[in-house]
Amino acid sequence: MTDTVSQKLVLFDIDGTLLHTHGAGRRAIRQALMDELGTTDPPDGFRFDGKTDPQIIMELMTAAGHPKANDPASIDGVCNRYADFLSDELRSNELRVEVLPGVVKLLDQLSSSEHVVGLLTGNIERGAMLKLQSAGLDPAIFIVGAFGSDSPERKDLPQVASDRAAPLMGEPPQGHDVVIIGDTPADVACGGDFGARAIAVATGSYTREELEAAGPHATFDDLSDTRSVLDAVLL
Ligand SMILES: [Mg+2]
Repeated sequence: MTDTVSQKLVLFDIDGTLLHTHGAGRRAIRQALMDELGTTDPPDGFRFDGKTDPQIIMELMTAAGHPKANDPASIDGVCNRYADFLSDELRSNELRVEVLPGVVKLLDQLSSSEHVVGLLTGNIERGAMLKLQSAGLDPAIFIVGAFGSDSPERKDLPQVASDRAAPLMGEPPQGHDVVIIGDTPADVACGGDFGARAIAVATGSYTREELEAAGPHATFDDLSDTRSVLDAVLL
């Protein structure tokens, strides 16, 4: 550790933050719902971003009037089927998974520092690994992770990640020693109760202005200005 910067746990969202799968995730969820439950398409205007996979599935089952919309076993079943379809989708569209600007360099620099790099994502763990691998990002870069498969509620995930980082950091990192980087107001908000710092990046479907309204510590158009992003992360 340096004299001036305490060791940080730096947690990245996946979709819209590290990479774009260009609809592979949505197609796979839709296929899973059709296959498992025979439900119809998402309602007009339904937003996927910022939500956990189990939350998306629960909301879509509810919208379709499915009687098991609140049944965890049914939701798990759809999640598992989704991961199977996602694997197929990503295999057939491998070249279309895009790593977003600056991500590789930022991850290189952080993972060769004393700080701990991790994931905080609404993806179920299996889906997260499939997306990273498909983008050519080594999942081993991310030493800890908190996933949609840990809780359907994103606000539960900062504590999950902190607890998992504790053996590496001596104690569970708290407050501003946890930094969450994401592309939606939900990423910014999820660490609020925990006291984490949020950094927003407008490479998803929210504008810079929409993100700033959620009150992040810093907002970037993308992650390509490595020096400025590191300065914001390690403050
Ligand atoms: Mg995202």
